[in-house]
Order: sequence, then structure tokens, then C-alpha cells
Amino acid sequence: MPDIFDLAICGAGPAGTASALAAARSGWRVALIERAPFPRHKVCGDCLNPGVWPVLESLGTAAALRALNHAELHTVRLVSLKGRALEIPLPAGAERAVTRESFDAVMLQAALAAGVTLCSGAPLTAIQRQATGWSLSTASTSLTAQTLIAADGRNSTTGRLLGLVPPARPGHAGRVALQCHAPLSLSYQGTVALELLSHGYCGIAPVDATRMNLCLVSDAPKLATTKQEAHRRFQLPSDQLWHSLAPLDRPDLPPAPLPGCFLAGDAARVVEPFTGEGIYYALRSGQLAAEAAVRHLTGDPAAASFYRAAHRQLYRHRLWVNRLARLAVTHRSLGNGLLSLGRYFPGLPGLLTSKIISTGTPRPRP
Ligand SMILES: Cc1cc2nc3c(=O)[nH]c(=O)nc-3n(C[C@H](O)[C@H](O)[C@H](O)COP(=O)(O)OP(=O)(O)OC[C@H]3O[C@@H](n4cnc5c(N)ncnc54)[C@H](O)[C@@H]3O)c2cc1C
Repeated sequence: MPDIFDLAICGAGPAGTASALAAARSGWRVALIERAPFPRHKVCGDCLNPGVWPVLESLGTAAALRALNHAELHTVRLVSLKGRALEIPLPAGAERAVTRESFDAVMLQAALAAGVTLCSGAPLTAIQRQATGWSLSTASTSLTAQTLIAADGRNSTTGRLLGLVPPARPGHAGRVALQCHAPLSLSYQGTVALELLSHGYCGIAPVDATRMNLCLVSDAPKLATTKQEAHRRFQLPSDQLWHSLAPLDRPDLPPAPLPGCFLAGDAARVVEPFTGEGIYYALRSGQLAAEAAVRHLTGDPAAASFYRAAHRQLYRHRLWVNRLARLAVTHRSLGNGLLSLGRYFPGLPGLLTSKIISTGTPRPRP
């Protein structure tokens, strides 16, 4: 006989743990399905946008996360293909970096302490829609729940099992991300650097006193060349361990596709990593998805339309900078042009950065 829950969540990244915490703290029976044993690695730049802190305060995890080993970031450095650098100071205490391994582990511990049931170690493999909710299975567990939140990231299994993911474009290799933690080079202390490469870009940020996070984003056919360029530039050992992630770009999926089913974080929408906002969007959309799930559980017929509107509004005021960043890194001549413009009009890069690191997202109207 499978276990019965009010809410089942697939994925224990920031979107999944934020929704699990929010629902469990309101007294609902929550199951969290996670394929990886924690702590686990996640391909990410490890930078926390200041917008995360109000969300983490409301989830009650801000103090534990602030106490983690981290690096403060006080400068953004943008570097053109020709190596010309533009530096933008960040407001004091605005941005910090912390490894995702430790960030996600703290969030999961808080969810468990709030009473969430974790089903971990095997991926979700089957979903069935039932009259009163959802039945879900992994190789080791079966459970049923009245509501479902898909928070299983950019390659969302839930999205695929529900038939929401459009077929891949034939012959389109897209872009790939590679990431590693390397010994900290002194020139990157306190700095998050974004440097254009011949076939992509790299993002560098210190994560503690001795290590830096190095992310490479490359056109897939040029991955080997991009990696060689990075090894030369950062003098990495030939046996440097890299983690990879693909595809980087993916169409958006509907955030509330079926009654009692909500998609949060990367499962619904992926943003360009360049601006380091994905964790913020994941946490906030996870929190909103939990609110929508609770509305559904309490019989509110407008739960889906609430979430669709809230999700739209979450991205509305910020996404244009992210899209501009994507254009700048996929059309490198535009990126170089914007950097040159920034040298003549120093207020421009500061203005764009202030849009990215602003903490305010208006609350959706009910
Ligand atoms: C190269 C790169 C650099 C980035 N840098 C930054 C940055 O500096 N700052 C920032 O804010 N964002 C950054 N991002 C974006 C950020 O990593 C994501 O937006 C964020 O992790 C999304 O969180 P999520 O909870 O939606 O998904 P994830 O963090 O991907 O979590 C999904 C979880 O679901 C689990 N899962 C997947 N499939 C299944 C299954 N079938 N069954 C059970 N569990 C499953 C996974 O194991 C994982 O734990 C970057 C992204 C990339 C690619």
C-alpha cells in the first residue's frame, strides 16, 4: 500500500526545498523525491543574488546559510575577447558565493527538520494522474499525493513524463556548461569575473579562502577548444575534474499545466547563467508553487491562475537584463560592443548590474 501525502515534490534543489519547507511549516504532509544522495554536487556558478535573502528569511534558513563558509564579492569584472576589462563595484554585502553542495544540504536539513519525508537515492520514473491526485514511483518507493510540484531542474523528468517537453530540434547541438572548483588565483579575490571566450564565456568566482568556481559555457561542437583555452588561461592541471551539464537552453514549460500540478525553478523556465539569478528564481517560484498547492488543497478553484500570474510577474521586471546578457554572450561581437560602450558611458554597466542585484520583486495581486 503506497504512502499518502498532501503534496509530493520531485527534486531537492532550491525550488524543491523552498516549496517543501513552505508547505510543511503550514502543517501539510509533504514527500520530497530526490534521485541523488546528499550532499551532492550541482553544476552552478555558486553566486547568490541578494534577492535570495528576503526569501530565505521567510523560509527560516537565512541564518544557517549565512554561517556557511563563503566568499564576499565586491566587484564584477567583465572582460572582452581582446582581454579589455571593465570593473563595476558592488554594494557592500550585496553578493556572496557558497558551494551548492553546502547550500542545498542546509536547505534539505531544514526541510527534514520541518517534517518533510525524504524518498532519496532513486529517480522518479512514473507518474499517474488519479481522480484525487497523483501516484508517483521510483525504483524503491510508491506514494500518492493530492498535489504535485515538479522541481527537478532543467532536464525535468516530471515535465517529460507528463508529455510537456517538446521534442529536441534535430541537428541542433546547442550549448554545454562545464564547471569545476580550482585553487583560487589571487587576481579573482572578491571578484566575480565574466570573460568572453572564442566560442562561449567563462564565469569565475571565489567560493572560500582557497577555492574558486570556474564555469565554462561553450557551443557544443567547440567544447574541446573552449576547455583547452580555459586550461591555458587558468593554468589548470591536465587531470582537472570537470562536471558537465547539457542542454543549456530549453523552451519554457507551462507553470501550471494540469489541476493540482505546478512547475517551479528550472523545471518551468531556465535563465541565462551569466547573470547568476537562477537560485533566486528557483527559491521564489518554489515558495509560490507551495502557496498554489495549498490553495488547491483547500479547494480554491483559482489556484492554477494564481500561480500562472505570480510566475509571470516574478520574471516580468527582471528578465530583460538576462535576455540582453544572453544576446551579448551568444553574439560575441555584440558583447564586445556593449563592453566598449560601457567604457565610454560608465553609468550603463552599473545600471544593468543594479537591475540584476536588486532585491525587490512585487507581490502578485491575489
Ligand atoms: C553553468 C551554470 C552556472 C550557474 N550559475 C549560477 C549562479 O552563479 N547563481 C545562480 O543563482 N544560478 C546559477 N545557475 C542557475 C542555477 O544553477 C539553477 O537555476 C538552479 O539550480 C535551479 O534550481 P532548481 O531547484 O530549479 O533545480 P536544480 O538545482 O537543478 O535541482 C533539481 C534537483 O532535482 C533532482 N532530480 C532531477 N531529476 C530527478 C528525478 N527524475 N527524480 C528525482 N530527483 C530528480 C536533482 O538531483 C536535483 O537535486 C547556473 C547554471 C548553470 C548551468
